[in-house]
Amino acid sequence: MRDYGHFIGGKHVPGTSGRFGDIFQPMTGEVIGRVAFATTAEVRAAVENAKAAQPAWAATNPQRRARVLMEFLRLVQRDYDELAELLAREHGKTIPDAKGDIQRGVEVIEFSTGVPHLMKGEYTDGAGPGIDIYSMRQPLGVVAGITPFNFPAMIPMWKFGPALACGNAFILKPSERDPGVPMKLAELLLEAGLPAGVLNVVNGDKEAVDAVLDDPDIKAVGFVGSTPVAEHVYSRGCAAGKRVQCFGGAKNHMIIMPDADLDQAVDALIGAGYGSAGERCMAISVAVPVGKATADRLVEKLIPRVEALKIGPSTSLDADYGPLITKAHLDKVKSYVDLGVKEGAKLVVDGRGFRMQGYENGFYMGGCLFDEVTPDMRIYKEEIFGPVLSVVRAHDYAEGLKLANDHQYGNGVAIFTRDGDAARDFASKVQVGMVGINVPIPVPLAYYTFGGWKRSSFGDLNQHGPDAIRFYSHTKTITSRWPSGIKDGADFVIPTMK
Ligand code: NAD
Repeated sequence: MRDYGHFIGGKHVPGTSGRFGDIFQPMTGEVIGRVAFATTAEVRAAVENAKAAQPAWAATNPQRRARVLMEFLRLVQRDYDELAELLAREHGKTIPDAKGDIQRGVEVIEFSTGVPHLMKGEYTDGAGPGIDIYSMRQPLGVVAGITPFNFPAMIPMWKFGPALACGNAFILKPSERDPGVPMKLAELLLEAGLPAGVLNVVNGDKEAVDAVLDDPDIKAVGFVGSTPVAEHVYSRGCAAGKRVQCFGGAKNHMIIMPDADLDQAVDALIGAGYGSAGERCMAISVAVPVGKATADRLVEKLIPRVEALKIGPSTSLDADYGPLITKAHLDKVKSYVDLGVKEGAKLVVDGRGFRMQGYENGFYMGGCLFDEVTPDMRIYKEEIFGPVLSVVRAHDYAEGLKLANDHQYGNGVAIFTRDGDAARDFASKVQVGMVGINVPIPVPLAYYTFGGWKRSSFGDLNQHGPDAIRFYSHTKTITSRWPSGIKDGADFVIPTMK
């Protein structure tokens, strides 16, 4: 049994609230640990540690801060297998997929090691007589990240990598469902040379989150999770005067044009729809074939592939996907499938009854495929976050585009076509933040930014890439006049560059 408290001031400390959450091993359904839920006072203790440690960290030159991250990268490589196994056991995704989770986080740390360059300001020599203007980026102080269960390595790294590189101290509130990897990453940062107190992990639920949002010493909060919680975090954090960026849920469409290579499209849908049991914010959950002939052929090809999906325990090296995160989530996903049937969608592959031999208490579910889903159905409007793909048939390209544009979510979208003109038009007109052209999961690389539109994202800057540096630092602009400006006497007209 693992017993997680908090990581404050460079040490593991037990929780004091007397409130705990169970940690399950989804592949067996067993409880394998518990995690303490922090009180407001424990969050405050973490903030005090961070506040005390931050000035010296900010005063450490950016190259040296980057070197700590470089050493952290080396330690992650050293412990990669151990981290991936821990991640797979607590989350349920397969070990190869867990390695991908770590890798996409590592890439943002690699990007963050460029911080000496990324934080450089601007300079105008001679903006006026004897006047120079320059700008510099400075850390905010103590900042925070609140992260979801589905990428317990990647998203904490997306948050703390750029924030620490900029010279901030950081409070991480990871998901209470799989806190093992975030706790281990905190240990590795300390081992890499990050001074104690610069990164603190407080575990918990709504109480800890609200304490982060209300704390006057936390200047910025980056959140990733479901949209209702994102809206709560955004409004409460903004009301407290903080910078807040929140990334929420999704319903990612893939438009399949009549000229697309259907075998490629089917391969893409199988991986992007069912990988990680559909528990990805960039999973494709809606396939939109254009034209009846395309739809009929697509569904005909999809059915045997969904039926043949290989579901297995997280430690299996050849499973396509593993169990879902909890029994409660499994029940919720199954209830959406029940709802879809009631709403009149055609369930052409039903995975609800799947049992994993030898792992009967695990949270497994077979792949489900709905055909003839329509936009008025709740299974279309809402995020299901499970191995369930809905086919919504469109008569033509314009209708496919409109579906993606009218949906409340706008995280990712894809078009499969051989026609450059259609692809170009789609990329330009679609109201979604990340677009794939013959790429089903268009997660931008670390040096671009990641973020959705509409109810998938709240706030004006994206995650990682240059936006993350902007989010976790502020600009100071200095206008200086040397040395003879004063002799001209007072100037009563608003300064203009004469
Ligand atoms: P969640 O909203 O349940 O939890 C996210 C975080 O919020 C956790 O740390 C949790 O402890 C905290 N939290 C939960 N309920 C809260 C409440 N009532 N008040 C305050 N804090 C609360 O999300 P999840 O189930 O862990 O993650 C899955 C969701 O995250 C999906 O909707 C998925 O689409 C989304 N997601 C989005 C992105 C993105 O970049 N847009 C990336 C990954 C996941």
